[in-house]
Order: sequence, then C-alpha cells, then structure tokens
Amino acid sequence: MAEAGSKVASMILSAVERCPLLVYPSSSMCLLLVGYLSFLIIAELVLPGKRILGVILPDNTRIVYRCTGFSSTILLLALLGIGAKFLGLPLTVSWWLLASGYTSKSKTSSLKPHVTGSILHDWWFGVQLNPQLLGLDFKFFWIRAGMMGWLLINLSIAAQQIQLHGNLSLSMLLYQSFVAIYVLDYFWFEEYMTSTWDIIAEKFGFMLVFGDLVWIPFTFSIQGWWLLKHTVDLTVFAAILNIIVFIFGYTIFRGSNRQKHLFKKDPKALIWGQPAKTIGGKLLVSGYWGIARHCNYLGDLLLALSFSLPCGTISMVPYFYPIYLLVLLIWRERRDEAKCKEKYKGVWMEYCKVVHWRIFPGIY
Ligand code: NDP
Repeated sequence: MAEAGSKVASMILSAVERCPLLVYPSSSMCLLLVGYLSFLIIAELVLPGKRILGVILPDNTRIVYRCTGFSSTILLLALLGIGAKFLGLPLTVSWWLLASGYTSKSKTSSLKPHVTGSILHDWWFGVQLNPQLLGLDFKFFWIRAGMMGWLLINLSIAAQQIQLHGNLSLSMLLYQSFVAIYVLDYFWFEEYMTSTWDIIAEKFGFMLVFGDLVWIPFTFSIQGWWLLKHTVDLTVFAAILNIIVFIFGYTIFRGSNRQKHLFKKDPKALIWGQPAKTIGGKLLVSGYWGIARHCNYLGDLLLALSFSLPCGTISMVPYFYPIYLLVLLIWRERRDEAKCKEKYKGVWMEYCKVVHWRIFPGIY
C-alpha cells in the first residue's frame, strides 16, 4: 500500500516538476481516471444509501439524491488497499477536466437551460442547474469525486513519507488525521449537502467541474506536498493547541450546518435543547444562527486553519487553503446575502438587525 501510494505521489511530483503549468495525461492515467469515475457511477447505482429529497425548486419539483458517498469511499479505500497489497495495482489519483454539453429542451428548474448569450459565461458558470444522466445528478457526483480524490492524494503523500522516512512526522500525522476526519465526516453527513449553495444555487459549468475535479484534490492537499519536503519541529504544546483549533472549528462547522438542516426539515426542531426561535417562521435565529449569519463559514475557516498549522510559520505556502477559503467565503457570503435579501425581503432585514455579524462575531 505504502509502496504503491508513494509511486503515485512521485509520479505526480515529477510530472509537476517537469512542467508545472501544463501536464499531459498518459494513456494509463486516462484509463485510471475512466476506471475511477466508472467505479463512482456503479457505486452510486448499486450501493445502499439514504435517498434524500432535495429542496423544493421554484417549479415545485424536487431532486432525489442518493447519499452513497460514505459507503463508496470506504469500499474504494478497501479495494485499493486489497489491490495494492495482493495484486500490485498502482494507486493513482489524477483528474481531468470534463465539459458537458447542454442541449436540453426541459422546462424543469433543474434542467432548464439558462443561456446568457455569452458563450464564455455559459461555459464557465454553466447552463443548467442540475444536469443529469441516467438518473445520476452530475453536481452531487462531481463533488464526491473531488472530495474523495483529496483523501486519496493525501493517503499517497502519507505513503510516500512512510517509504522515505519509515514513519509519519507529527505534522503529517496531524494534517492527515484532520483532513481524513473532515472528508469522512463530509460523506457521513452527505445529505446536508443537498441544501447547500453549490447544489441549489450554482449552475454546473467549467467552474464547478474544474473546482471539483482539479482544484479541491490538488490545491487543498498543498500542506501534504509541502510537508513531504520540509521538516517542522512541532512541540507537543503546539500540537495540542492545533488539535483544540480543529475541535473548536469542527464543533461550530458541524453544529451550525446540522442546526440549519434540522430546522429546514422540521421548523419545530430543538436547537440547543430549546424550540427553534425564528424570524417570520422562516429564518432560524437561535443556536449558531443567532450568533452570526454564517457561523458555518467561521467553523470551516477554523478547520482550514487547523489543516495548515501543522506546517508551522516558516512559509506561507501551506496557508494557501485557509487564505483562499477566506476570500471565497467572504465573496460567497455577499452573494448569499443578496440572494436572501431578494427572497426573504423584510424578514431578512429584520434578521440582519437581530443578528448583526456576518461571519466573525464582534469583528465582521
Ligand atoms: P449555507 O449552508 O450557509 O446556505 C446558505 C442558505 O441557507 C441561504 O441561501 C438560505 O437558503 C439559508 N439560510 C441562511 N440563513 C438562514 C437562517 N438563519 N435560517 C435558515 N436558513 C438560512 O451556505 P453554503 O452552501 O455556501 O455552505 C455550506 C457549507 O459548505 C459551509 O459550512 C461552508 O463553509 C462549506 N463550504 C466549503 C467550501 C470549501 O471549499 N471548503 C466552499 C463552499 C462552502 P434558503 O433560501 O434555502 O433559506
């Protein structure tokens, strides 16, 4: 397993070092990518998993999502582990962009084409909200491929460090553990994704395809790449602080997303043991949602920081992910604010008066 993983890591590293901006896929890479995506399609169709009804779309239709992310990840990890041990199959994680063509005549909210007149805009942001093929929801599917890919790349990096040094450094162990928990948790609570911005508001074009297949797995794992080449003297005290940041971030992130999800399913749900307080019966104003309007972003940002802290402070490179996420979530919060203002009108204005802070209580 370690040997196969390290082969993948050195293959990717040497390819990137030879030509950092343009890497052409070999035929074996393409085959592995097709194999990987085929596995995901088959797993989606055959593995047991909850069937979740998505949010109600403007035309009152709802998409049925199959939450098989967790079982597919566990099955894939098991198969790769068995393959690497007994069959000598090389592990690989390499992603290529795919573009989908949209020629739909559908009038449903999820499939109706939104053509702007600018080919570049349509290509970048997408034309349909939830394109599907054979009952497979593309957007839900691609995010799964990206998140799982992040975990697989990380495992390859860990395997290479074990092969090079015989063990994992404390920094690598912390980084690997945090991200593994984050990704597995993401799949465990996959149904919460069905009401997120990416799924309900963003059309599916190059931006999301690239984001899911390339950006997430390759840039979110920069800390791991960096730790392969640099040694950090992390004290036990620093490691404990790092774990505290992770736990704190996780509690806020998971707690706030969970509260919103429970409230959307049942407006009478208990929040921190009390009946949910609302504004206009539509917006939750208790729990985390009464502290800041996007406490879930705060939790995610603390988590992102905890993924980079194991790298110490000698370089900014490993801090790429939290910095990127900060910019993305501040931009996202502004777009979400505009969407909510239009949708909820006076109710939203009242919510803003009651809950003043956007993301960081007391600061922003
Ligand atoms: P949210 O899950 O915060 O969803 C925003 C929507 O929630 C709003 O449009 C509104 O939708 C509803 N809403 C807002 N306030 C309230 C309220 N008080 N009560 C009830 N409903 C409310 O946004 P995202 O989808 O952007 O984020 C989901 C998670 O994904 C976050 O934790 C975020 O950090 C994470 N994320 C991670 C990224 C990464 O790269 N790591 C990238 C993007 C997100 P409605 O109209 O349905 O009421």
